[in-house]
Amino acid sequence: MTRAVVVGGGQAGVETASSLRLKGFEGEVVLLSGEPAHPYHRPPLSKEYLAGKSDVAGNPLRGESFFQTRDVQLRRDARVVQIDRAAAEVTVASGERFGYDQLVLATGSTPRTLPVPGAELAGVATLRRLEDACQLREQLPQARHVVVLGAGFIGMECAATASGLGVPVTVVEMAEQALGRVVSRPTAEFVVDRHREAGNTVLFGRKATEFRGENGAVRAVVLDDGSELPADLVIVGVGITPNTELAESAGLAVANGIVVDELLRTEDPRIYAVGDCANYPSVHAGSRIRLESVQNAVEHGQCVAQSIAGSPAPYRAVPWFWTHQLAMRLQIAGLAHGDEDTVRRPGSEPGSFSMFRYRGEQLTAVESMNHPRIHMAARKLLGGGVPLAREQAADPDYDLKAHLS
Ligand code: FAD
Repeated sequence: MTRAVVVGGGQAGVETASSLRLKGFEGEVVLLSGEPAHPYHRPPLSKEYLAGKSDVAGNPLRGESFFQTRDVQLRRDARVVQIDRAAAEVTVASGERFGYDQLVLATGSTPRTLPVPGAELAGVATLRRLEDACQLREQLPQARHVVVLGAGFIGMECAATASGLGVPVTVVEMAEQALGRVVSRPTAEFVVDRHREAGNTVLFGRKATEFRGENGAVRAVVLDDGSELPADLVIVGVGITPNTELAESAGLAVANGIVVDELLRTEDPRIYAVGDCANYPSVHAGSRIRLESVQNAVEHGQCVAQSIAGSPAPYRAVPWFWTHQLAMRLQIAGLAHGDEDTVRRPGSEPGSFSMFRYRGEQLTAVESMNHPRIHMAARKLLGGGVPLAREQAADPDYDLKAHLS
């Protein structure tokens, strides 16, 4: 019988395995998950779960019964240590081997750490896995001085959650803007203003050069201007590195992720890569990209499952992303390059608006703050390549639904 083996039991791996069945694949499906926990959603780890409002048991990617009824062989704690392409088999850390006809690499990513003195002190943390979140969830309510390094999505979400628990945070960002280049400056400023209103401090143009400790635990963060921030908990949110070692040691091309074509297939026609670890050619970016989002992981998984099930189609999905911080629900559709100009469309409620981003006359992305209706319309506009003039984008009374029909 044909066998598809999926490496990684995160969002992309689980979606691939479950979609294989939904798309009619009749062979064996083996899902090798490197983590001991049942596969779970990561987004709540910096939000509801960290806030103590949800239990991970409530957040499985698919229930136990799903794997049984769909005949997906889920192996937990099964870290793949080698791919033998000539023999078409993978070996897990226990020594067990699995032959494959099709192999899908869904190995995700690992948070970057900071190579500064004191990085090993207790209380200096990153957030990716359930274990990280469990530990932070215990530490956060007791912390008196929290420093978050990096004003990206995860750092700002952690800062929002901490302030919701009554623990004010200092966020330190090396760049001059929060949320990276993908978000327009006005939207990023709106987010930072809400954080400041909630009691958080956000510093730009500064970086940490050292963590100082006492009895093995962090006590302060030293910045590059020589100043010192008291800290008994430091969350390092300075980005991630794709997990490519397995692919690399199997001789597959790697360049900021595992290099795949528009079918998300590596140069070995039996091996695919999906999710955070995959570097693919994007029609929306007009270049190769690697994205870190649930949408990307899910739709990659569906695309590859379709190929394996026998009807390959190039990956063309419109990227979209969301973040929840304080009372903000920010949704982003499309991909900005950073050099766009921006048209603001007010919403009907205070704190609700959308930013339409244009490169020349081309709409590249839409950021919607507490404006879900516009986000949904934006995904359709971008997906269908439907032109929208700037005056139409800016006019809150202009009917986008009618425009799309
Ligand atoms: P992962 O979810 O990282 O899964 C990869 C899995 O592969 C891991 O379990 C890993 O242990 C395993 N693995 C690695 N190597 C091996 C091996 N050799 N053998 C076996 N298994 C292996 N995205 C959004 O769109 N919105 C959000 O609000 C949002 N919030 C987030 C909050 C947090 C705290 C984090 C960490 C991420 C968030 N993301 C969010 C991003 C999103 O969760 C990721 O982009 C998505 O989980 C990527 O899925 P993946 O399957 O590619 O990788």
